[in-house]
Amino acid sequence: MPELRKDPITREWVVIASGEAGRVLEFTAAVRRAPLTAPSQPCPFCPGHEDLSGPELLAYRPPSTGPDTPGWRVRVVPGRSAGVGNGGPSGHPALQDPEVLQDRREGGPRDHPKGGDPSLRSGQALGRHDYLPVRPTLKGRSHGPEGLYDTMQAVGAQEIVVETPRHEASLADLEVAQVEDVLWVIRERAEVLGGPDWVRYVSVSRNHGLEAAPAHPRSQLLAAPVVPQGAWDYARGLREYYDYRGRCAICHIIEGEAGARERVVYQNRAWVTLAPYASGRPFELWLLPRRHAPGIGQVEALEMRHLAAALRDALLRLKVALDDPPYHCQWLMAPRHLEGMDHVHWSIAITPHLIVSGAQELGGELRLNPVPPEETARLLRDAIAPTLEVAAGRR
Ligand SMILES: [Zn+2]
Ligand SMILES: [Zn+2]
Repeated sequence: MPELRKDPITREWVVIASGEAGRVLEFTAAVRRAPLTAPSQPCPFCPGHEDLSGPELLAYRPPSTGPDTPGWRVRVVPGRSAGVGNGGPSGHPALQDPEVLQDRREGGPRDHPKGGDPSLRSGQALGRHDYLPVRPTLKGRSHGPEGLYDTMQAVGAQEIVVETPRHEASLADLEVAQVEDVLWVIRERAEVLGGPDWVRYVSVSRNHGLEAAPAHPRSQLLAAPVVPQGAWDYARGLREYYDYRGRCAICHIIEGEAGARERVVYQNRAWVTLAPYASGRPFELWLLPRRHAPGIGQVEALEMRHLAAALRDALLRLKVALDDPPYHCQWLMAPRHLEGMDHVHWSIAITPHLIVSGAQELGGELRLNPVPPEETARLLRDAIAPTLEVAAGRR
């Protein structure tokens, strides 16, 4: 029998269909993978085209190589979204201040001291954030009836983390050590972007197979003066759970799920990957750090290595079980510079974009998930062991 389940954090009720193994496998990718970049349009994120993606803000590269030249393993460049920032055509305020840019280059791209003290990774030469000088203010309420609408300058910064020089690779294909490099870079840039006191949220996300070309593997960071609704719902849900139950919902979930294992896909010493109990979408996964922390800024070296292993594991399982589906990966961390956010327990949600037979919304936007999370967990648990070598061999 189908059942109604309630998400303990968002309090959303969803309908979970009864498990019908045959039906579970009737799905197709909803969105076709973006076509490979045509030769006439060089990928701006590929080695040799560094000049097309803007001056690098950070790179892990051998000391013998210079900025904006090939040889890097991970590279951060300004984002080009028109949605935030006031940095002109580049979309990044950093480019407006040649002096600051020079400072960052003198700090120099450097090699990542793997396994070293992560506290050494933030706020160093490349970590200045004073290229974000503009404090956004409410512009007033000039639109509509008096006092009805708020407007704010769309100021902020977007950065692209180019995860590998290999255009055709995906994060699931990379070595764990390379994924760990990517995570250290994200941690460093998230801390930098979250520095100014007006920044309310640093969003970290990655899309796979969902965006227009080029499809070069990359994550993006977005610093904004407002908290996105999903992140706010998450923080508020955890606060309310804490007020009601006297403990953190995520800590509670880990305690219950890791023991029962019914919905657990993978776990190591620092992370648990599971199919959430009240998931409204087929094959959704949560990656949860065992230690309560508000964001990646508090992650320690060993935990980072375990996160790299857990993230790569989750993506590889999805790739193998669902034939390389498009997906959205969103980090949920505590808002910045707001009081009372210690109760936020950060996490990573991965949502494949699929058309699944039987998936639908019932009236009133009540979502129906035709793939029970227990079925998701079983399929993904079984996916990787017999096929790991095959997947690795595709490299
Ligand atoms: Zn490329
Ligand atoms: Zn917690």
